[in-house]
Amino acid sequence: MNTFSRLYGHAPEGEWAAPGRVNLIGEHTDYNLGFVLPIALPQTVRAQARRRDDGLLRLHSTEGGSAEVAVADLAPGSVTGWAGYPAAVVWALREAGHDVGGAELSLDSDVPTGAGLSSSAALECAVAIAYNDLYGLGLSAPELALVAQRAENAYVGVPCGIMDQMASMCCRAGAALHLDSRDLAMRQVPVDLAGAGLALLVLDTRVKHDLGDGAYAGLRAGCERAARLLGLTALRELGPADLAAALPRLPEELRPLVRHVVTENERVSEAVAHLAAGALAALGPVLTAGHASLRDDYRVSCPETDLAVDTAVAAGAHGARMTGGGFGGSVIALVDAEAAEAVAADVTAAFLAKGFTAPRTLTATPAEGARRTA
Ligand code: ADP
Ligand code: MG
Repeated sequence: MNTFSRLYGHAPEGEWAAPGRVNLIGEHTDYNLGFVLPIALPQTVRAQARRRDDGLLRLHSTEGGSAEVAVADLAPGSVTGWAGYPAAVVWALREAGHDVGGAELSLDSDVPTGAGLSSSAALECAVAIAYNDLYGLGLSAPELALVAQRAENAYVGVPCGIMDQMASMCCRAGAALHLDSRDLAMRQVPVDLAGAGLALLVLDTRVKHDLGDGAYAGLRAGCERAARLLGLTALRELGPADLAAALPRLPEELRPLVRHVVTENERVSEAVAHLAAGALAALGPVLTAGHASLRDDYRVSCPETDLAVDTAVAAGAHGARMTGGGFGGSVIALVDAEAAEAVAADVTAAFLAKGFTAPRTLTATPAEGARRTA
């Protein structure tokens, strides 16, 4: 008998899966309504689910344990801990006017949590897509992504942009998602790493610095203030040609933030151009330049991510950068396939030499977004 049947005494109505992600380039641009370029990971959060008609939401996660809540009682913050994420999605669906009730959910996952690989969005999206089918809502993938983002913003209380949820919902196998965060226009850009003799290493630094949580909101607020001072709706409206004239109009402390956002949007365009031309290795220097900008201008790197990037590049990676919000989390490195093990070994050795915990290493291939699996 599988876990669902053991927990709830009958079979699920179906099974759904939603992936974690790594972002190739375009960091801290989504909440500035700019561009991002994530791929979905093969690692997913899987949900087995069955509708309940008594208004009870019953949850179980292999990692988190069990929880139970009446759907009518859901209000931001009313459920905390891991169960807050699925509860938030059900709350956000109801807030959006969808007449959804209870369900039984059994969740399992191989997305590392708290590693900057967006297990939180994978969890939200697995629940959102399961509910969409259980309750016949007929919502599109971007609509479900927006519900999941609202859940994380307004219920869990994390002011994230739209990238993680759009990546989990809308990525396609073999492609990166070139997303415009302003209108959610998207283009699937083929990424054939193996065909180019390349591999994308993901090095989970195993650190999550606490200052990350408050700092993210502060950075976002700084960008929004800069946009207001420049008379813009969002920094996305500022092009590279306007940068030199715009910076002196801003307080000193906001200038590097703006410089990062504007140059990072440019790097997304460059990366897409390289991919479209089939010049995958040329992506490398774009990644490394993006890391320097996150380190020096946006200031969201940390000794562990810098060490992973520097060591990977010194070991022959075409390029490397931290991915995700920063202050720890994961680094991606674009490497020749046959060099992947040696680069990972060098990074591990460098970490041990500094007394850091050895990183966990994955190899990312662009995988499919959220889907029904049974
Ligand atoms: P990230 O999204 O980078 O993994 P977050 O801090 O945003 O990091 O989200 C991690 C949190 O998401 C975990 O602490 C946990 O509360 C929740 N979570 C993610 N996956 C699961 C899961 N399979 N089971 C229970 N909780 C999970
Ligand atoms: Mg998250």
